[in-house]
Amino acid sequence: AGKVEFRDVHFSYDPNRKILKGISFEVPAGKTVAIVGPSGAGKSTISRLLFRFYDIQGGKILIDGQDIRDVTQESLRAAIGMVPQDTVLFNDTIAYNIRYGRVDASEEDVRKAAELAQIGPFIERLPDGYRSMVGERGLKLSGGEKQRVAIARTILKAPPILMLDEATSALDSHTEQEIQAALDLVSQGRTTIVIAHRLSTVISADEIIVLQDGQIAERGTHAALMGKA
Ligand code: ADP
Ligand code: ADP
Repeated sequence: AGKVEFRDVHFSYDPNRKILKGISFEVPAGKTVAIVGPSGAGKSTISRLLFRFYDIQGGKILIDGQDIRDVTQESLRAAIGMVPQDTVLFNDTIAYNIRYGRVDASEEDVRKAAELAQIGPFIERLPDGYRSMVGERGLKLSGGEKQRVAIARTILKAPPILMLDEATSALDSHTEQEIQAALDLVSQGRTTIVIAHRLSTVISADEIIVLQDGQIAERGTHAALMGKA
């Protein structure tokens, strides 16, 4: 389960400026589609529309054949896991942050998810440091560590659909590679939409869609698109 379809989707934030001008693509269950393109092309808008933050003005968005207009917000949020560019964490323990959205999860499951995401030793810490009784200042989580918290949350939630919106773009290249490896593991077997700036970061996607000015300029595998260049 988890097939995602955009059928001739039209969208504007305001009537004077079209953002998506008839976008169609399909992500078969368990496959990965990457959306690349310049800043402002409408990539993040696609992710917001899948969560139904906004209503579209034309076309349809379907999950497993069902129009998302007929799906409750709760089911949508349960079906889609999101790792954004910058994960904003609650000022509570890492364990609390991992458990967010799955309050019924056992402590054991939270710990396992943290270990898989390689953030295990941090789970009792606070994201932005803390002042202890003896006046010590705790360490802040780095950007990569915050992404690991988001990954642990996704492992625990185990959604059929995964949305990665430039999830590694704020990281230095060494950390980016580590987080990319963790994301590859999480996305295995899930329907995954990866939003990226550069083609080089989405080599293994089943299909790459190049979005330009609200339209699909090109589509194909990495090899096919490179062959054209
Ligand atoms: P990308 O992710 O490809 O950089 P976005 O989908 O974030 O692009 O944005 C596409 C266009 O829509 C941009 O020109 C942006 O300025 C505009 N935009 C984004 N969000 C809003 C909004 N809430 N209201 C009005 N315009 C917006
Ligand atoms: P980013 O992609 O940088 O994380 P967003 O996706 O939220 O940020 O927005 C992308 C672009 O849309 C930015 O250039 C931002 O200034 C613009 N934007 C965001 N929200 C609005 C808005 N409400 N009205 C107009 N432009 C917006």
